Amino acid sequence: MRGTVAGATLAALLLAGCSDEVEPLHQVSPTSTSPPTGPATGPTTGATTGPTTGPSSEATPGSGTAPTPPPRADPDDVRVATAMSAVRHLAGRIGPRPGTSPAYFRAAAWVERRLTGLGWAVERQRFHTPAGVSWGVPVPAGPSVNVVATRGDVVPGEPWLLVGAHLDTVPQAPGAEDNASGIGALLATAEALAGRRTRLPVVLVAFGSEEPRGHSDADHHYGSTAYVADLSDGQRASLRGMVALDRVGVGTAVPVGSPAEDGLIRDDPVVDGLVRAAHRLGVPVTLEDRQRSSDHWSFAQLGLPGVRLGGTSYAAYHQPGDLPSVVDPAQLGRTARLVVAWLR
Ligand SMILES: [Zn+2]
Repeated sequence: MRGTVAGATLAALLLAGCSDEVEPLHQVSPTSTSPPTGPATGPTTGATTGPTTGPSSEATPGSGTAPTPPPRADPDDVRVATAMSAVRHLAGRIGPRPGTSPAYFRAAAWVERRLTGLGWAVERQRFHTPAGVSWGVPVPAGPSVNVVATRGDVVPGEPWLLVGAHLDTVPQAPGAEDNASGIGALLATAEALAGRRTRLPVVLVAFGSEEPRGHSDADHHYGSTAYVADLSDGQRASLRGMVALDRVGVGTAVPVGSPAEDGLIRDDPVVDGLVRAAHRLGVPVTLEDRQRSSDHWSFAQLGLPGVRLGGTSYAAYHQPGDLPSVVDPAQLGRTARLVVAWLR
C-alpha cells in the first residue's frame, strides 16, 4: 500500500504546510530521554526502531552506569493551550479536511511537525480510501495517511499502549470538535510525555479517513483498519490498551465508551483503568456500552482492547458551524489529563 502518493507531491505538500505555523509548542527538554534510534523501517508501530532504551524502560539497579530514569508522566504537565492551538489551526485555518483531500495532507504535515518537534519519531502509513458519499457529499477515492509517532521503545511481543485520534472531517465541517479536539488532546499528551516515563511504551497515531463514506460497518475507519491490518500477530497479542479520542471538547464529563455488550462494560480492563484514573484525578466520566463509532472499533473487531473517549452530542455536529468556539478548553484539559493519568 506504500508509494501511492508521489514523493514529489508529498514533498510539495510538506513544504506548503510549512508556511502556516502557529505559535510554537512548549518543548520539554529531553535531557533524560534517549533519542529515537533512527527512521523506522519495519511495521508502523516502529517496533524495529531500536532496543528498550527509551524513556519507558526501567533502569537497571546495581549498575554504576545505569542512567537515572526520567520522572514519571504527570497529568499536571498537560497544557490546554497546546490542545486549543491545534483546534484553532486545524479547524480555523485549514478547515474541512476529508481523508483524501489536499487539506488533509496539509493537516497531516502540520501534526507531523508538531510531534517531531516534541521529540517523537514520526512516520506515515499510506493506505487507500475508496470513493463514497460522506455525510451526503460525494468524495473521491485516493490515498490517505496515518501519522504514527513512537519513541523507539516498542518491542515486538512486549506490552504497549496506543492512543489515537482521527484527523479527517466530513466535507462540509471544519471539524473543531470532530475531531480537532481529539488531535489537540493527542498533541497535549505527546507534549506531557516528552522527557517523561510511562508504565508501558506508548504509540500515538493521528488516523486518516475515519469518517463514513457509506452506510455499512465497512465504510468507515479506513485508517485504523489499515493500521491494525499491518500489525503482526505478536504486536496484536501484546497491545494492552487502545484509546480513541473522538470529540473530546464538549460537555462536563468525559464519556468512556466500550464496544462491550450491555452490562459488560465493567468487565473491560481498559475501561476499568480509565475509570480508576479518572477517580484519582477527580474527572467525572460517563460510561457507554455498545460504543462502536470510532477508530477503537477497528481494534475491537479483532478482539483487541479498544475504548473511545468522547462523543457528547452537540448542535454543530458535521456542520459548517463546528468551529473552534464550540470547543471548551476545560473539557479538552479533563480528557488529556485523564489520558496521561492512564498512561503514567
Ligand atoms: Zn469523529
